[in-house]
Amino acid sequence: SNKIKVAILGYGNLGKGVELSILKNPDMSLEAVFSRRDPKSVKTINTPVYSVENILDFKDKIDVLILCGGSKDDLPVQTPEFAQYFNTVDSYDNHAQIPEYFASVDAVAQKSKKIAMISVGWDPGMFSINRLFGEALLPDGETYTFWGKGLSQGHSDAIRRVEGVKAGVQYTLPSTKAIEEVRSGVRPSLSTKDKHTRECFIVLKDGADASKIENEIKTMPNYFEPYDTSVNFISQEEFDKNHNTMPHGGFVIRSGNSSENINQVIEYSLKLDSNPEFTASVIVAYTRAVYKMALKGEFGAKSVLDVAPALLSIKSNETLRKELL
Ligand code: NDP
Repeated sequence: SNKIKVAILGYGNLGKGVELSILKNPDMSLEAVFSRRDPKSVKTINTPVYSVENILDFKDKIDVLILCGGSKDDLPVQTPEFAQYFNTVDSYDNHAQIPEYFASVDAVAQKSKKIAMISVGWDPGMFSINRLFGEALLPDGETYTFWGKGLSQGHSDAIRRVEGVKAGVQYTLPSTKAIEEVRSGVRPSLSTKDKHTRECFIVLKDGADASKIENEIKTMPNYFEPYDTSVNFISQEEFDKNHNTMPHGGFVIRSGNSSENINQVIEYSLKLDSNPEFTASVIVAYTRAVYKMALKGEFGAKSVLDVAPALLSIKSNETLRKELL
């Protein structure tokens, strides 16, 4: 078929999200999932699974390889390795390390003449593009990023380590007061802790002391102490029913002045039931862009900031002009 042939390397939350997202994109076909684990132990929805040991057998059968490994340990090794053989897309999200990461991937992709699109998702990703639009359109201004409501893995782990806690999750929420202040067009200076509050949901072990646990959480240095934190005790039943997804989202707001006393406010917001499924949806749209850029003979490392929007679409530029302009 003339569909874009795609494969996934690494089948965790994000890998599964990519498999689901490709089902919504009729111009793509998912040829394979590759894993470092025993392929028989990896249960996909309906895609064949192969050991990563065999990935080079697919060198000429795959247009774009989507790397779904973790940012901490997997991608810094896997992206430079596989950009030797494939056009790639990844979701590397360690913001501070991105310049070095880009350079290491670019060195490989320049040589192999492949495209390696890095750090695709929502942050980095769609939020980055919206920060760029804000800065470019309103040079005299401030950009504000708020995260949440979102599940924080690190903070959830921290509350689960407190003595007497049987199960627990932590959500980060944008502070309503801070958001309203920013939306009003004043340009407040806000720290991360001014912009966010923390909300915990906890199931206690039998006989545990609720007020002691609440105090221990609220005073935990770095994690909770600097924040406005609320602690809620719930039953295991309620926990299982209402706290089993990975929601996330947030806002990017640019508040600027085009002339004295003329405020202009731009807002982009995401409200996501599933962080990995949305991240995967962004990745799949950029996979199409990678395919189109490779057809035009482009190569090297790229980020979302380098991609023209029309390349993301399944529609022709002519159709897009008719429908969207
Ligand atoms: P996971 O921990 O679910 O998966 C990471 C890897 O772990 C998988 O690719 C898989 O590789 C391996 N793995 C090992 N054992 C298992 C197992 N038993 N079950 C599932 N996977 C297993 O991470 P996520 O998919 O949630 O996230 C991947 C990355 O996505 C994150 O590190 C983050 O950097 C990035 N991300 C980026 C965002 C953005 O906005 N830019 C937003 C959200 C996430 P293998 O199959 O080879 O074993």
